[in-house]
Order: sequence, then structure tokens, then C-alpha cells
Amino acid sequence: MTRKTDKQLGMHRAITRRDFVQGSSLAVLGAVTSGAISVTTTAAENTASALSTDGYYPPTKTGMRGSHNGAYEVAHALARQGARFDNPIETEEEFDLVVVGAGISGLAAAHYYQERFGKDARILLLDNHDDFGGHAKRNEFHQGGSMVLSLGGTHNLEWWQFSDTVKGFMDAFGVDVKAMRKNMDFTYGHDAPNSPAMWFDEDTYGVNRLVSNLDLNEQLTPEVIDQIPISEAGRESLKAFYGRRDNLLSELSESETDALLSSISYPDFLRQYGGLTEDAVQLFDKKVHGSWGIEMRALSANDALWEENPGLHLLGKDWSYEGRDYPAALWPDGNASLVRLMVAGLLPHVAPNVTPDNVALAKFNYGALDEPEQPVRLRLNATVVNAENTETGASVTYAEGGLLKRVATKHAVLACYHSVIPHLCPSLSEQQKDALKYQVKIPLILTNVLIRNTNALDKLGVDGIDCPGRLHARLFLFKGINNGGYEHDADDSGPVSLVFWGSVSPPDNAIDLKSQLRASRQKLLDLSFEDFEREVRTVLNDLLGPEGFDVNEDILAITVNRWPHGYAYEYMDLWDPDWAEGEAPHEIARQPFGAIAIANSDAGASAYTHVAIDEAYRAISELPNQTAAVAKG
Ligand SMILES: Cc1cc2nc3c(=O)[nH]c(=O)nc-3n(C[C@H](O)[C@H](O)[C@H](O)COP(=O)(O)OP(=O)(O)OC[C@H]3O[C@@H](n4cnc5c(N)ncnc54)[C@H](O)[C@@H]3O)c2cc1C
Repeated sequence: MTRKTDKQLGMHRAITRRDFVQGSSLAVLGAVTSGAISVTTTAAENTASALSTDGYYPPTKTGMRGSHNGAYEVAHALARQGARFDNPIETEEEFDLVVVGAGISGLAAAHYYQERFGKDARILLLDNHDDFGGHAKRNEFHQGGSMVLSLGGTHNLEWWQFSDTVKGFMDAFGVDVKAMRKNMDFTYGHDAPNSPAMWFDEDTYGVNRLVSNLDLNEQLTPEVIDQIPISEAGRESLKAFYGRRDNLLSELSESETDALLSSISYPDFLRQYGGLTEDAVQLFDKKVHGSWGIEMRALSANDALWEENPGLHLLGKDWSYEGRDYPAALWPDGNASLVRLMVAGLLPHVAPNVTPDNVALAKFNYGALDEPEQPVRLRLNATVVNAENTETGASVTYAEGGLLKRVATKHAVLACYHSVIPHLCPSLSEQQKDALKYQVKIPLILTNVLIRNTNALDKLGVDGIDCPGRLHARLFLFKGINNGGYEHDADDSGPVSLVFWGSVSPPDNAIDLKSQLRASRQKLLDLSFEDFEREVRTVLNDLLGPEGFDVNEDILAITVNRWPHGYAYEYMDLWDPDWAEGEAPHEIARQPFGAIAIANSDAGASAYTHVAIDEAYRAISELPNQTAAVAKG
């Protein structure tokens, strides 16, 4: 095998990431004097497109996004290196509410605060990123001519799981999920004639081979299995597995079956009960990298079967797979549009007259997010390092632009990751700190590659591909979402985002789930943009090159949404006991203390947008009942 050189892969091509360097990365060195933080500057990888060179408009930035350079170094210095942040500048700003984290939960908390305490309440939202929305990140491309939108993080509205609170929330913003569904023609890459497909790469499988109409979740025929480039014994084991119909656990009662399947991993189930060889089992390793963000070995057989991975047919049940028809509702920039609706509601002067019908196209004036005369202010690039109760409410200290500042507030809501809260609030009880630290978030990657056209994919007849040997375990074309005023027809063959989705495999020696998550996170943080670019170019060259795709010419932009702290940790069969009601870590972790309440999807131990909203509602309802406005900031 001859690997392509960086030059042949087009690594020298001037895609927009090299046009403009912004937001230098801050590495905090130590203690602080007089409000100034001692920092060193390292190379930055974020870039902006031509659209944003005049003004501050982060959605058009390409390169390393998500948790971008400059966003997390202060928090890591605090949490990992024990850096001290003393002697802040007293800003003399005073608020009714300070919210830490301007993700969906933080913004929803500000909305519910207004509902409870009135529209005049003075609210400050602080976020360490250069854009609002947290995981709801808008990726906006203009490199191919007209605007192409894509997903930077959370995107599905799983409306069938909405609580009454969330239904009321959606009504308040005019969001009609059923109407959104009608404007969608998108199935995560299951539409094209030869989809679903799997691509086996030469580095891993010794040959580059695309196998059409292959989805491991579906009933496979021997003819399809014969094309999978693993050992002959592996293929035979797959044929036997997919062909069987006996109930292997017929001797066990329902509860015994449940107990067994909850105690073994899915790969062990495939080995022991499915009879699969090791190379056949490995085909499944990364299958849930996108949907769960973890290795298959971290899932119990029960969890995996619930997720419609194959195996129920070995338990006397009918083959079932409905995953192709996932009925979620989407905007073209994912739940970033929901965030934009919230920001427009809280700060109408930033984006006047925004409705669900125009939200995807609406212009937002980022320069007006933090106006002193406005009741709601949103301060970006500001990492909170301390929040504590005071005689009059709470104080919140944050690092911004190399300075340390403190504001006073009547109430505070911590809508940030739970694992950082013990470092922000050292006076919390040890029991609550331990419960907060239980939340180890799941790392994820969403890499958008803007390609010139879909010609090569059209020739192959595929729009979604599993890549079990590669860093990103799944690719899909993202178009066919016509909501919020934006239109991108499913049959448009022009510039389009090809989404590379997945997580980072932990090393084999990471045994328990939390070690796996921490190891994946570190590996993810150690990957540079160039590493991702090389990976994407290699895959596209080897997969689409034979169909005429030229990696030198046909890649217009690359945006890596890196989420070292991605999904909230959800309890899993293999790793977590069944706690009595009120005793689960997230229930202990989210207890309010003094004038400070705790939100974020972590507070629900459930990685969903609607959970982030529910938890915001609860947090606001738990704040002590003080209604008088504090002095103006
Ligand atoms: C790639 C990806 C895909 C997803 N897809 C879906 C999906 O399709 N559907 C779904 O329902 N959910 C999805 N999720 C889950 C997602 O986490 C939730 O939907 C939701 O966005 C969580 O919102 P949040 O406000 O709780 O947290 P976040 O979005 O994480 O917001 C918290 C904010 O607080 C900031 N913060 C943290 N510490 C500090 C500090 N010290 N100072 C200041 N700010 C701080 C964070 O940086 C962040 O901006 C996805 C998540 C990821 C990562």
C-alpha cells in the first residue's frame, strides 16, 4: 500500500482555515495579581470566512470549533492544575441573576427567570466559548456560493419525549415540531439507492472496499456478507448469526434473561451467544460512536438490543429495526436555531423580529450582546472560576481577556458542566462535590466537510456510510432540511456538508467506562486540526477518488466540532447501580445551595435538549423567593 503524501492529499490547499487567525489560546500559568491573569499564547486554529472579517460572527468560523482553542484552558488550569484565581477586579456590576453557561439550559434558565421575576430582571449570562449555544453550535458556510448550514452539535428534537414543561416552552417560542417534520426530507443518509453502505479501508482491512446495502442492524444476506473483507471464518460466523432463529435463552425466565443481558457486554453477547469470531465482533466496535459516543464494549447486551442492534432474533423474537425512520425534527443548523430563538427573545435588540419561520436566516448582531443599558446581557469568552454565596446573594468571578473580574448578583444558576462545579464552589459539601464529579461527560466529534458537489457520491449511489476502521465511524450528507426560512433540497447536487460523525476510541487498557471516557477525551484534545484534516482527506481520497473526487479541488472548507465534554453521562447497566429515588448522583448533585441553583442536562443525567430545558425550569423554581430588583449594573 502506498500512502498519499500530505501534498497529494491537498494539505497545502488554502481552504479558509488558513485565511485568518483569531482567538489565541490562553494557557494559564499560575496565580493572579490585581485582576490580571498571567498567560502564554499558543497557536490558534480557528479561522473566519470572508463574511466575518468585518464583524464578530463566529458561526462562519471554520477550522477547530466546538470546544475551540482559547475556550477551555482557564477551566483546565483551575480543575487540573489547581491554579488560583485571587484578587479579581470588583466590577461593581450587580445583577438579579448571573447564569454560568449560555447553552440551551442556561438560556432557558434566563427565560424562566424572566417568567418568574419579570422582564425587567437584570440578567448576565457568561460563557467560555466565543459563541452562544453550548453544544447547539451553528456551522455556517459560504465558500461554495450560497449559504450552507450544518450541525455543530445537538440537532434532533426528540419531541415524543417532551415533558409538559418542554411542550409549553416550545409553544412560548412558536416552535411546531410537527410542522418542522413536514419540511424535512432527511434520513441520516439512508435515502440513496445503495445506502446504507459500509466502507472498509485499506489501512484497517487491507483493501479499500465499499459494500452497498450493508447495515449491520438489518437482516444480512450471505451475498452481502461475502463482500465483507474479514476472514473466511468471520464471514461464516456472520452468516450463521444472521441466519439463526432459535431462542438461545429459552431455559431462562424473563427476569433471568434480563439479568444476564444486563450483566454482559454486547460484544461478549455476540461472541458467546452469537458465535461471532473476533474480527466479526470488531465490525460492531464503533457502531454507537455517534448515538452513544462510546465503544460497544461499554454497552450491556440489554442496552445494545434496546438500541436495535441485532440479536433479538436469538431470543425468540422477531427481527426488528426501525432506526431508518427516526422521527426527530430538525432545523438546518440543528438546535442552534432554538438557541437563536431564545437569544432573540431575551435580547430582542440583537435580532429583532425573529420567528421560527425566519430564524435560520436571521441576522444576529453579536456586537450588541453585552450592552450595559439592556436588562439581559450575554458575555462570551468569559470563563467562570468561582461562585459563592454572599450576604446579599452571590458573587461570580470570571476570567475574560486575561483579566479576572467579579460581579454581584441576587441569584446565580450554574448551567455549566457538573464536573467543574466543585472547583467553582469549594465550600460545597464533599457529598455534593462527589456527586457532581460522577458526571463524566462523553466526548464526541462532528466534523463538517463542505464538498463542491455530490457527483462522486451520486455515482456510488450512497448518501450515508459506516466506516468501522476510521476515526469518524459514520459519514452522511446533510441536506433536505427546509426549516426556519432556509431551503436545501434533498436532490441538490451542489455544495453540501458531508458530516463526519463519531468519537475517539479509548485504548484497550482503559477498562471501566469512566477511564475510557477520560482516555478518549485526552486523545481528542491531543488531535490537532491537521490530524483531522489529514484523516478527512485520506478517507475522501480513498473512498471517492476513484469516482472522480479530487481532494485538492473539491474540499471547500472543514470545520471540526470537537466536544471533549459532550453528552451528559447516562447511567448504564454495566457501570452503575440502581439507586433509590433521590439518591442517584445527579439528584444529589443538583441540590440548590443558598442563592445558587444548578441546571444543565447533567442535572437530569440525560443528554437531551429537552432535559436541559426541564432542568433549567427546576433550577429557577428552586431559587429563594426574592423579588426586589437589585441596584443597576
Ligand atoms: C455532538 C453532540 C450532539 C448532540 N446531539 C443531540 C441531539 O441530537 N439531540 C439532543 O436532544 N441532544 C443532543 N446532544 C446533547 C446536548 O448536550 C443537549 O441537547 C444540550 O445541548 C445540552 O445543553 P446544556 O445547556 O445542558 O449544556 P451545554 O450545551 O454544554 O452548555 C453549557 C455551557 O456552559 C459552558 N461552561 C462550562 N463551564 C463553564 C465555565 N466555568 N464558565 C462559563 N461557561 C462554562 C460550556 O462551555 C457550555 O457552553 C448532543 C450533544 C453533542 C455534544
